[in-house]
Amino acid sequence: MELNDLYQLLSTSSHRIEPHHETWMLWLKRKSREELFEVAIGTILVQNTNWNNVDLAISNLYRSNVKSFENLLDLGIIQLEEMIKPAGFYKQKSQTLIFLSKIFLEYDSKGLDPPSRDELLRIKGVGKETADSLLVYCFYVSVPIIGTYTRRFFARIYGEIHYLKEKYEIIQEFIAKSISSDYYTLGKFHALIVSHSQLVCKKIDPLCDKCHLKDLCTFGKFHPTQPDLLQIQEAISQPKTAN
Ligand code: SF4
Repeated sequence: MELNDLYQLLSTSSHRIEPHHETWMLWLKRKSREELFEVAIGTILVQNTNWNNVDLAISNLYRSNVKSFENLLDLGIIQLEEMIKPAGFYKQKSQTLIFLSKIFLEYDSKGLDPPSRDELLRIKGVGKETADSLLVYCFYVSVPIIGTYTRRFFARIYGEIHYLKEKYEIIQEFIAKSISSDYYTLGKFHALIVSHSQLVCKKIDPLCDKCHLKDLCTFGKFHPTQPDLLQIQEAISQPKTAN
């Protein structure tokens, strides 16, 4: 199946960008300064945790009137750690937020072009997926975002195990060649895959019988009869190792 068709089908799914519709809409639009702050820190805070915990951490910051990169840099490190504690890994994430805030302020004050991917990757705690998320959702740069959900979804749809381990940039190239290259479409494609994977195409026991992609999906159609597909599921089910 062509990726563009997949994008259209996901867009028309009854689940679409649920259950965090409002959050995704905020991430996809052009943002005010305050919205940009919320999305940028959300990109870091959401690593290895869920949205509910991110919401708690952001609420703590907002309750103390921390609504901008300047406000965040005015905090003491202990205060910052305490506020973002609900999101976990708070010591590392505090450091990352401080570095990131400095980068945002530098680009804002000098009116420079968006930072390069390499520049973002030099920040401790920012990996490829986070760097690309920042580029798309905060700097409106057109670049595909590849996460665990994307790998799992592609492996099942195409019935090919290599998507689970393939080099990040190769999957990026695959998407970039097939999907319209504006930041909004690429960001929405990522959001749709995340949402579909959380609600339907779950890690263990995907809900294939309820999935509107079933007739087009290799795993959904054939997995009880094909050992290769069961091997994919086995690989997906294995405990996650460090990236
Ligand atoms: S049919 Fe099953 S494996 Fe395929 S996309 Fe849907 S939930 Fe995932």
